[in-house]
This record gives sequence, C-alpha cells and structure tokens, in this order.
Amino acid sequence: MIPPTIDRVVDIVVRIDTALKLTFVSEQGLRWFGVESLAQLPQDFAEILDSEDAGTLRAQVAEQPESFACDARIVRQGKAVWVNIRAYLLADSRQYMLCVIDISPWKADDAALRYAAEHDELTGLPNRTHLKRAFDQLAKRGAKPFSIALLDLDGFKKVNDTFGHPIGDAVLKETTRRLAKVIGPNDLLARLGGDEFVILTEGAAAAVSGKLTDVLLAIARPFDTAPHNAYLGVSIGVAEYPVHGEDYSTVLKNADTAMYHAKSAGKNRISIYTESTESVDFSIKAAIHKGIQEGEFYIEYQPQFDIDRKLVGAEALMRWTSSTFGRVSPDKFIPIVEDAGLMPFLGKWALRYACHQLKQFRELMPGFAMSVNVSPVQFGADDFDALVIEAISEAGIDPNRLILEITESTLMKSQEKTERALAKLREAGIRFSIDDFGTGFSSLAYLTRLPVSSIKIDKAFIRAIEKPRDGSFADEKLVTAMIDLAHSIDLKVVAEGVETEGQFDFLKKSGCNLIQGYLLGKPISGAALTSLLKEAA
Ligand code: C2E
Ligand code: CA
Ligand code: CA
Repeated sequence: MIPPTIDRVVDIVVRIDTALKLTFVSEQGLRWFGVESLAQLPQDFAEILDSEDAGTLRAQVAEQPESFACDARIVRQGKAVWVNIRAYLLADSRQYMLCVIDISPWKADDAALRYAAEHDELTGLPNRTHLKRAFDQLAKRGAKPFSIALLDLDGFKKVNDTFGHPIGDAVLKETTRRLAKVIGPNDLLARLGGDEFVILTEGAAAAVSGKLTDVLLAIARPFDTAPHNAYLGVSIGVAEYPVHGEDYSTVLKNADTAMYHAKSAGKNRISIYTESTESVDFSIKAAIHKGIQEGEFYIEYQPQFDIDRKLVGAEALMRWTSSTFGRVSPDKFIPIVEDAGLMPFLGKWALRYACHQLKQFRELMPGFAMSVNVSPVQFGADDFDALVIEAISEAGIDPNRLILEITESTLMKSQEKTERALAKLREAGIRFSIDDFGTGFSSLAYLTRLPVSSIKIDKAFIRAIEKPRDGSFADEKLVTAMIDLAHSIDLKVVAEGVETEGQFDFLKKSGCNLIQGYLLGKPISGAALTSLLKEAA
C-alpha cells in the first residue's frame, strides 16, 4: 500500500499499468481532477496528458526503467496544467506509481523569471542570453547565412556626461524606438548593455550592410534632449555566420572587431569583418560629400495650381539619389546636411539652380512663380540676403516671382537678425510664405508684423479633411478658420498635400487660393515641367 505520508507531499498519486491504463487515483487526486470516482476519468492516462507529453511518457514506460521523472501537461477541465511526475516501477513490474505535483505556479514564475533573465530592464529589448539562444537556433537550422550587426553609438558618452544619466537613458530608449522601426519583421534587436545594440538578421554580410544604411539615417536625426538637441552617430560592425565564425562568440567577437574598425575609420559608418585589415565602409556624411561632388543631388518641381486648376507655379524640392544609399528622402538627409554644416552650401546651390530654372519656365509662362524652401540654418547666416539677391540677378529674373518658404521656427529663432534679413529681401521684391502653417507654436502676431505674402497650410490638416480624427470635424473648422484669418490680413493661402477631389472641393468652397498635391501633380523633373508648360501655353 501507499504510505500515508505521500499524500501530503504530492498532489496526486496515480497508478498506471504498462499500457498506460489508469488503475488508481488517490482521494486528493480525484478532488484535484474535480471528479468523485476513478470511473469518471478516461481509462487511458495518455488521454489526460497533452499529446506531446503522452509520447514522452509512453516511451519511458516502454523502456521500463526502475524510475523516471519528467515535467508534463495534464489537461484538466479543458486547460493544460504543468505537473512534475516522478514514476516508480512497482514490484510486479506491470505497474508504475506516479507521484504528481502541480507545478503550474512555479512554471508561471519560471516564465516571468526567464523573461527577466533574457530582457534588458531599461529598453525591454532581448539581452545577451536571449541573443545567444536565438543565434544558436538559427545556426541549428542551418541552410541560409545570417549576420550579426554590432552597433555602438558615437557620441553617447558625451551626451551622458553633459546632460546626465536620465537624458542618457531617454536617448537609449529613443534609439530603441528608431531601430525597432527600421529593422525587418524577422530581425532580432538586442541590447548588449551601455550603448551597444545588436541586430541579428538573415542574409550575408554584404546584403545586410545595404539594409543597415537605414539605421545610420535613423540615428543621424537629432535627438531631442531639451533644451538642446543632441547629435549622435552609430558605428556598425557586421560579421556573418558561418563564414566569419562557426559559433556565437566568434561571430560576435568578429562583429566587434569590425565595429572598432568603423570607429577608427571615422565613425558613423558600417564596416564588414574581413580577416585582412581592409574593410568596406559606408558613412552618410562621406556619402553626402561625395554626392555633392558627383552631382547626385538634383531638384524636382511640384506644380501648383489656382482654384480653376490652372498651372501657375511650382515648389522646388531637393532630391538625392545616392550611389550607396539609393534614394533618400529630404526629411532624412536635410537634418544631416544641416548637422554637417553643409546646408548653407547645398541651400545656395538649390536656390541658384531654381532661379535659373525659373528663368526658363517664365519664358514659357510669364506669370510663373517658384517657391524655394529655406532652412533656418541658411536664414541665420550673415550673408543670406546678399546671397539671394545675387542669385536673382545672376539668373536675371524678376524678384517678385520668387517665393521663399520659411517655417514658423525660422521666425522664432534669433528674431532681430531674421527680421532684418526679411525686411531687406522684401525691399528687393521677394515674397515669403509660411510653410507647414499650423504646426508651429508661435503667436499669430508675426503674420501682421512681417513681410509675409502667403501661408501654406500643413498637409496634416489637409489629410484630415473628410477624415475626422476622433470623430469631430475640428480639423476642417481649423482649415476654414486659417483661410479666413489669412484673408483678413491680405495673405494668400496655399494648401499642400491635396490628394482627393473631396479635399479639393472643400478647399475651393473655403476660398483657398492655390493647390499643391498628388491629386493635381506630383514632383517632377525640370524637363517634365517644361513639357507641361508647353502644353499649357
Ligand atoms: P515641405 O516643404 O513641406 O514639402 C512638401 C512635401 O510634401 C514634399 O516632400 C512633397 O513631395 C510632399 N507632398 C506633396 N504633395 C503631396 C501629397 O499630395 N501627399 C503627400 N503625402 N505628400 C505630398 P519631400 O519632397 O519629401 O520634402 C520633404 C521636406 O524636405 C520638405 O517639406 C522640406 O521641408 C524639405 N525640403 C525639400 N527640399 C528642400 C530644400 O531645397 N531646402 C530645404 N531647406 N528643405 C527642403
Ligand atoms: Ca515647402
Ligand atoms: Ca510643408
């Protein structure tokens, strides 16, 4: 018989024969199952177990060891419960006694513990332990090559030392968010500690490096560490399994070597591990410098229409098709160009280029007006007004056909200097438009005080027309209010990002003056716009 003490240290005592037929369940066991008698349970113990675990148990019993132990799932009232089973072969060799303990509370703790053991507390990302496990799994699967990209932030220590640890932590969290956005759905992003991250991704090192250019771009955007921005970069080393190492620690070590190479080659670049000292490097700033030299930058023109859909002008938009990175959007490269101190140069080029193009367009359509974007960095330069006037006279164009698009933040920065430059340029006949109107936080007073001729309602508001956010038509009312306000002080209104007929109708009804957007015309080359103008003439 079963000694009485057993019932107290185990939850259930069960006897099964070698065919896994249930022959006995203890009183407490019956209560645990929620039944009154053995007859209410399936005869076959395997039926009570999760099918995977039943297989394990069956194999053990078939082998007939003296005793064995395993964790298994018992299906109780439709739910799997984790139990620990210790089995003892009874004297007649035809039955096993099973001592079963309900371990589901520990299993839950186990999962929580395991999660904590494999994740980084600050960012919630998988840590080294998790990374190694994921690496080993991929390696076991064999077949395709995969790579470890080791990322180390450039300039993080300075941020930490200058702004303090709370800001440093915030930068790491923001880094995590940016990285999470650019990695692929099957990639694993992990944090090794400090400012070191890893991307585990399928593909050979060379292919992976191509994908990682988005990482460089994502980190190069300024970090908002109020009251100042912080500019960081990232050095990346890539090593591939199995060509650069046949196990986790070798591949990681080689990715680390490559990362140090990227640092010593000037930081903010990607370097692939090689056994020799040579390495392939990509750096965005270097690519921008090279792109400028090799003529990779160019300008497209997005047509603008009056409310009768007649072509009346265009906005010049800068483009960069890099031989290394492919086509990069200006939202991404302009902050980097500004940070690299190249904006005055590139902006000047764009302005001169647009002025020359304007001269040609005006020969086809005399009333044609050209809008050019000006970054706050350009406006802050001492000689900005002189530079614009020079570009105009060089191209031989009428100054009042040039519109400079500036943002509210330009107007907010170094007020006095900006106002002087604005006044000078205004005197010369140049017009100004407030870009991204409605997104700033400034007072409207400047609209009456400064020589502005139009506002450009930001595309976020236009997008909301007919598509009320949170169910209200507040955005539509805001658009109407902006138009009325602008008209009351004799400013023209341009709507950008107009994509649908519904938006167009609404804007026409509200009295908007100019329309720009994919509905009527996407940004196109100077040659394509020339053909459009010829057609219109
Ligand atoms: P932005 O001045 O607000 O330019 C309008 C942006 O909206 C352009 O994006 C344009 O392609 C896009 N767009 C036009 N119509 C539609 C539409 O119907 N739907 C949607 N979804 N988008 C539309 P892009 O060309 O990517 O330029 C982004 C930003 O980069 C510009 O925003 C501007 O702030 C800056 N940028 C572009 N070129 C220059 C430049 O030469 N100098 C300076 N400083 N900044 C520039
Ligand atoms: Ca603009
Ligand atoms: Ca805009």
